Amino acid sequence: MVSGQIYIVGPCAAESREQVLETARQIIGVLRDRLRLTEQRPAAPDRLIFRAGVWKPRTSPDTFQGIGAEALEWLAEVKETYHIPVATEVATAEHVEAALRAGIDYLWIGARSSATPIVVQSLADSICDLRFETSDLKGILIKNPVNKDAALWLGNIERLEKSGVPVIAVHRGCGHEPCWSMAHQVRLARPDIPMLLDPSHMSGDAAQVPVLMEKIAELGLDGAMIEVHNHPAEALSDAKQQITPEELSAALTEQRPASPDRTKTANADRLELNWLRAEIDELDEHLWDTIAARMEVSQRIGAWKKSHGVAPLQPERYQMIVEKIKDRSADRTQTDFALRLYDLIHEESLRQQI
Ligand code: PEP
Ligand code: MN
Repeated sequence: MVSGQIYIVGPCAAESREQVLETARQIIGVLRDRLRLTEQRPAAPDRLIFRAGVWKPRTSPDTFQGIGAEALEWLAEVKETYHIPVATEVATAEHVEAALRAGIDYLWIGARSSATPIVVQSLADSICDLRFETSDLKGILIKNPVNKDAALWLGNIERLEKSGVPVIAVHRGCGHEPCWSMAHQVRLARPDIPMLLDPSHMSGDAAQVPVLMEKIAELGLDGAMIEVHNHPAEALSDAKQQITPEELSAALTEQRPASPDRTKTANADRLELNWLRAEIDELDEHLWDTIAARMEVSQRIGAWKKSHGVAPLQPERYQMIVEKIKDRSADRTQTDFALRLYDLIHEESLRQQI
């Protein structure tokens, strides 16, 4: 755990009072030395925040939907026992009211709500109306929308800022994949807003969590939101991606020192290359996935041709594609490159059809 960074840790969902309190007890236990934490003395200002979802936006109605408002009391108990701030997800104005009345310190808006501006606006409005009735609210976390839309994420940040509560962006990727180009755009547009990484939802895989956490130092991010459960295998939601408190401690120990202060122009410039490399790596992944998918379809075409007695190479089809490439590539250099690349792909495609 690196100084100045924020870590929001805890289970995907609050499942029972026992599970919430036991997970918190174990997290505090493994991080005690690192944070020089005692039950009487709180951690340095909000470096560690305990999370648990009480209303879960699940894809299927047949799965666990969360305990509901009753579980807010368990979070309040964690806050009181360990003197750490607590966070939960809100998706409706009623959630905001119940969470604020229960003394929740940080609200987060999930990726599905983040995709709907009317929902975000109504959450911002109710936070605005209620924030002075309870003094605990310290921040609003806004995840990127489920769809890759940097402008929408930025718009959501703006809507929430009008409530006067500090806003923190959380990059959780799209599906189970990071989306560095979207996060980079938001980072460049709003360098003043902290950005956390959510390696749990980004990968959907507990083994990938420590690997993705390397990006925090590499890109100068401001910390992470990580799903931690006392018995991940028995979790009622997101079982595959939750890590144990011991695994959290190990992942934090392995972390590289923080990147230089990104608010200084020269340092931000140094981090820029790492962001661009993350974008390139992501595009390469997509390129390879697309090529692999193309080869698979090509093999199916090969099987069809074989069963219909058609030769693998069809010169008129090849010529048609070449013409299309010539039409769409803008200049000569581009056309030469595109044709050379297509030749390579086509050659391999034919090989796969034999
Ligand atoms: C969560 O953090 O538990 C959650 C539901 O995340 P997301 O909205 O990113 O899917
Ligand atoms: Mn989850």
